[in-house]
Amino acid sequence: MDKIALVERYNLRSVFDLMKMVACHLTGRELRLRVRAPLEDDKYIRGTTRVALDGVPVVDLDPNWSTGGEQELRTYLHELAHVVLHSEKTKRSNVDQRERSLPAKTPEEKAVTSSWEREAEAWSEKRMKFAVDPDQVFDFESALWKLLTY
Ligand SMILES: [Zn+2]
Repeated sequence: MDKIALVERYNLRSVFDLMKMVACHLTGRELRLRVRAPLEDDKYIRGTTRVALDGVPVVDLDPNWSTGGEQELRTYLHELAHVVLHSEKTKRSNVDQRERSLPAKTPEEKAVTSSWEREAEAWSEKRMKFAVDPDQVFDFESALWKLLTY
């Protein structure tokens, strides 16, 4: 289907609508994509993935980012990777509540966290390479359209 047919069929009205559609395409499952400030205090966190109490993964992307950059696409794909690779192993929680301070992680838990991050990076990097032509000026929306064909 060409772009215009897709826009009409799925009532795409914004880049965010397109992001939601690409998210479903790449993950093959139901998820909620939201623009929401991260609950964590860490100012470097641009996105988070949690699993809601009903079992649906929820991806929150920082509203303070300027959509349109390569880094934003990278963050978005990184969070989708967590949905695909790790949401089944993630404990369900109230996604609108900050987690109470947890006890410090054991070395085993830290190792799991870093292996999840490496897996997510590898997954998202593959899709970045597919979507972004290094010889072209980066365009967020074009990259999303390309990802629909991944
Ligand atoms: Zn991550």
